[in-house]
Amino acid sequence: MTVRVRIAPSPTGDPHVGTAYIGLLNYAFAKKHGGKFILRIEDTDQTRCTPESAQAIYDSLRWLGLQYDEGPDVGGAYGPYVQSDRVKAGIYQRYADQLVNQGDAYYCFCTSRELDSMKARQRANNEPIMYDRRHRGIDMAEAKTRAANGEPYVIRMKTPIEGEFVYKDRLRKQATAKAWKEIDDQVLLKSDGWPTYHLAAVVDDHLMGITHVIRAEEWLNSLPKHIWLNEHLGFTAPEYVHVGLLRNADKSKISKRKNPTSLKWYQSQGYLSEALLNFLALLGHSHPDGIEKFSLDEMCRFFDLDRVNVAGPVFDMTKLRHMQGQYFRELSPERMRAEVHKSIDQRFNDLLPLFKERMAFGGDFVWQSEPFYADAVTHHADDLVPKGLEKAQSKMLLENTQAAIKRYIAGDNAVWDVPSLEALIRKLLEDRSAELPDATPEQQAQAKLWSPKNLFMLLRVAVTGKKESPPLFDTMVMIGQAKVIERLGLAQQKLR
Ligand code: GLU
Repeated sequence: MTVRVRIAPSPTGDPHVGTAYIGLLNYAFAKKHGGKFILRIEDTDQTRCTPESAQAIYDSLRWLGLQYDEGPDVGGAYGPYVQSDRVKAGIYQRYADQLVNQGDAYYCFCTSRELDSMKARQRANNEPIMYDRRHRGIDMAEAKTRAANGEPYVIRMKTPIEGEFVYKDRLRKQATAKAWKEIDDQVLLKSDGWPTYHLAAVVDDHLMGITHVIRAEEWLNSLPKHIWLNEHLGFTAPEYVHVGLLRNADKSKISKRKNPTSLKWYQSQGYLSEALLNFLALLGHSHPDGIEKFSLDEMCRFFDLDRVNVAGPVFDMTKLRHMQGQYFRELSPERMRAEVHKSIDQRFNDLLPLFKERMAFGGDFVWQSEPFYADAVTHHADDLVPKGLEKAQSKMLLENTQAAIKRYIAGDNAVWDVPSLEALIRKLLEDRSAELPDATPEQQAQAKLWSPKNLFMLLRVAVTGKKESPPLFDTMVMIGQAKVIERLGLAQQKLR
């Protein structure tokens, strides 16, 4: 048997570090066994998937050196490798029809309103939220007539209602077991004729000759459906192996709020693909001799699927940076020079638009941009006290603004860009300077301090150490969240 494995990412958003991790394990397994590593794009959720995201997946895998043998942009004998193209080729409908004709699937005519009220009722009765199988017994002839008359329907799987599903994953000591009645009558084909992930993945794994499905444990819940589909479609199921999910330090599933997850981000920050791969390799695996630093080729030689760690490896940025340093310091002088140049150019290109209007000589950039490069800035206490303010008042303004920025960053989906930052600061000014109906004279005086003139000057000096700078919000964005907060803190210390 020739080993054939695949990764099947959905192209939504930026390419994910989890895709690289699962890709690495599949790649190493394929190479170790002289097999093939395949990339399939699962884009049946057309509301969320984009061609740009798919392209970014190709680019990132190539950057990492995880070159697939077959895939959308390299071709192969089992194409097309993008599911939306396979939908257009009518691949999935046939299998859904087969299940219906066998009596293993049925047409369900529930409208979304019916489904919503079903859910509401279940929630009110504290019952599990799932489809109540009301169309399961529908007469086939009646269903076909209703469908032929144009009534929208989906095709659902006739999940067993008795017995238990049991599967022994080779990496897990305990078998996975679940009562069938707790498993939904999964929609296989949606009302627009598009398959859901479950049908499409199982059909494609079969048609593409996949021998092992190595994926993250978040898909374990889908396993009963996948095994059932294989059985009822008459396929020999691939072996399913579920590895641990990458985790944040607090053991939750890796998320971009706690860890950068975009492969594009790692690339743009100058991480070396060899270092990132080596780091990922150690999360799932280890060298038999305990060696920590090894190449992808070496890993492909010693890789042993049975030794893969399923215990939710923690993505530790400190370890990654350490690994990066080791690889970086070993670069050839030419490559190192190129990496340094790349960083200088990148920062320079980002900063140049801010200074364009402020320079008469190239050298002006050098001194004007210093706060944008420096680790810390020196504050002159006098500059931190705008005319008409007391030291303590300046300090109060900085303290409150720093707290507001911190609160903003801690929130969900905080974006660090000029419009968001400007809105935040202007809102703060508006709230704090508002005239309260029963304000004491003291409160009134305090509210007056919150003027754009005071605050903008203070922020500029606190963040850059200078009284002049490019536009304030652009400046803050380019200096970055962490440094802005740190410098606001340093400025307060100067005012003690
Ligand atoms: N499309 C799924 C994903 O986005 C693939 C899951 C699987 O490997 O079966 O990860």
